[in-house]
Amino acid sequence: MNEPYQIIDSRFRNLVLANVSLRQISGGHWWTEGPVWFPAHQCLLFSDIPKQKIYRWMVDGTVNVFRENSHFSNGHTRDYQGRLISCEHGSRSVTRTEHDGTVITLADQFKGKRLNSPNDVIVKSDGSIWFTDPTYGILSDYEGHKAMPEQRHRNVFRLDPGTGHLVSAASDFTQPNGLAFSLDERLLYVAESGGSHDENIPGVIRVFDVGDDNHLESQGDFVTLDCGLPDGFRVDCYGNIWTSAADGVHCFDINGVLIGKILVPETVSNLTFGGPRGNELFITATTGVYAIHVNSAAAVPDVSECFVKVT
Ligand code: MG
Repeated sequence: MNEPYQIIDSRFRNLVLANVSLRQISGGHWWTEGPVWFPAHQCLLFSDIPKQKIYRWMVDGTVNVFRENSHFSNGHTRDYQGRLISCEHGSRSVTRTEHDGTVITLADQFKGKRLNSPNDVIVKSDGSIWFTDPTYGILSDYEGHKAMPEQRHRNVFRLDPGTGHLVSAASDFTQPNGLAFSLDERLLYVAESGGSHDENIPGVIRVFDVGDDNHLESQGDFVTLDCGLPDGFRVDCYGNIWTSAADGVHCFDINGVLIGKILVPETVSNLTFGGPRGNELFITATTGVYAIHVNSAAAVPDVSECFVKVT
């Protein structure tokens, strides 16, 4: 059997498994994104942005619609209370789905002007919500509603969900995209995918020092992709970065050395770890969602036993 991965550094062999396959677990979509695993309900949620739906995949293989009219939702994450946090292009907002199913807006403007189109989102252990705000969702009517940007910058934002206070944490991106913290949360990694519209901008993941006050200090580029642009990515329990790329998922070690690739037949947008034992990598890739067992797991322990009401 052909291995569905490429070993570049022998250390990557310790992160993958023999005799596993890359399985397509859902297909026929238009542009999938935003995979998030809910351990309490043993299911994966993911977006199809242009179809305006959020789908739910269960471990028995069932796939159904979790939410109709998702407002062109893109990236999702789970907060420490087990609630769904979502980026929506259509409403140009970040929302939270409460345990009773109510959807509330957490942020939709900055300095009195509408956000561009929130793309991807993570939660820090102090409860702060960090998200990127590129313009992809307002460039056309395919992934949102076409509009002129009101914001001067394409920011990385930090939101205090208790007060609603929104701060620009970084503003010097062409198009910020996926983001993730290092294991100790002293580093923040952010993808620059501006090469989608300007070929002179390389596909890089930048790294920032995170101060005690959550102030960011840029440390420059961390990795440069050799194939395509970085979109969503995750840090695993060993600190490795697994990032989306044109030919699959690229795995970089804690020093930014490319050690291997999971080869995927469609352009990858995002990924997450999950599954009953936490060792499955779920990959959203254009029209399909794929899964593969690996010898690694998510960085953040699954502390929540709660789940949002299925609507
Ligand atoms: Mg993205």
